[in-house]
Amino acid sequence: DSDSIKVFVRVRPLTQGTGLTTDGDQSLCLNVSSPNTIRLLSKPEPRTFTYDHVADMQTSQDSVFNSVAKNIVESCMNGYNGTIFAGQTGSGKTFTMLPSELDNFTDELRGVIPRSFEYLFFLIGREVERSGNSKSFLCKCSFIEIYNEQIYDLLDSASASLFLRENIKKGVFVEGAVEKFVNSAAEAYQVLSMGWRNRRVASTSMNRESSRSHAVFTMTLESKESRNEVVNIRSSQLNLVDLAGSERQKDTHTEGSRLKLQEASSINRSLMCLGQVIMALVDVSNGKSRHICYRDSKLTFLLKDSLGGNAKTYIIANVHPGSKCFGETLSTLQFAQRAK
Ligand code: ADP
Ligand code: MG
Repeated sequence: DSDSIKVFVRVRPLTQGTGLTTDGDQSLCLNVSSPNTIRLLSKPEPRTFTYDHVADMQTSQDSVFNSVAKNIVESCMNGYNGTIFAGQTGSGKTFTMLPSELDNFTDELRGVIPRSFEYLFFLIGREVERSGNSKSFLCKCSFIEIYNEQIYDLLDSASASLFLRENIKKGVFVEGAVEKFVNSAAEAYQVLSMGWRNRRVASTSMNRESSRSHAVFTMTLESKESRNEVVNIRSSQLNLVDLAGSERQKDTHTEGSRLKLQEASSINRSLMCLGQVIMALVDVSNGKSRHICYRDSKLTFLLKDSLGGNAKTYIIANVHPGSKCFGETLSTLQFAQRAK
């Protein structure tokens, strides 16, 4: 189904916030030429890239949620697995996914994840009411981090690295990962905040940047409906993924250390696997038969049940419009284009 993979590109403002420095260079390497095209100012001539939706520099968090995430939360309610990704480094991935300040739940700047929680619980409330209480829902969250192909539980900072397992009943899961039951958006938000804090603490104490790991927040939704003594149980998963930055190797080489090189190569490897899985899925949705190499990286294996099949995969590729970022932006735009 052509709706199963959708690609969105969000262009961050040139100078706002921290992250990438433009060294005072105010020139742009792209412009948003319509709500679904980007014109990259490449030489000798500009190139146009087309996506399902492009959010320009002025686009608010609210509008990003409405155009990107709303739909996927609705699919999750209807029993499909869904995933949201965000791309390139320093380009606003975390800003798009999370709130600017995790302490402030009502902030206008809060991102896709907290807004998804609110919307999900709004839909749950409506369903329960509409069904006259014959339908009930159970929500649980887990939050893990993949760093150098090792899996860590962000909801239990004391735990050792964990392993992926697969069985018929549960599909692919992280063995031993903490699952927290939540009854409201605020509770889900608390779980998210706790994991996010743990990620920061781990990154400081173990001397690694959080932008060097993938963080996967998973909300499992179980619905139970009793009708004429028949109980119908359905389960779906919403994965919200903050991908590690896709710095190119050459930038990392300047830093030199072995750890940095190892980090960079495992990030590149897992992003490459993800790219290949997504491209294979695009082929499959176009009717070709392809083997999909989910097992080639922890990230793709973990997300197996949420990529392909009945799942909806929404990719948000974040890009920086500064001329200094031309190379990274081009590769992100190309990656995102291939996924279409
Ligand atoms: P990433 O997670 O991709 O490395 P961040 O989300 O940390 O990037 O963004 C880098 C900086 O840019 C942060 O200070 C963030 O607040 C700011 N920023 C990113 N996107 C936007 C945006 N659309 N509007 C305002 N500030 C933004
Ligand atoms: Mg980030």
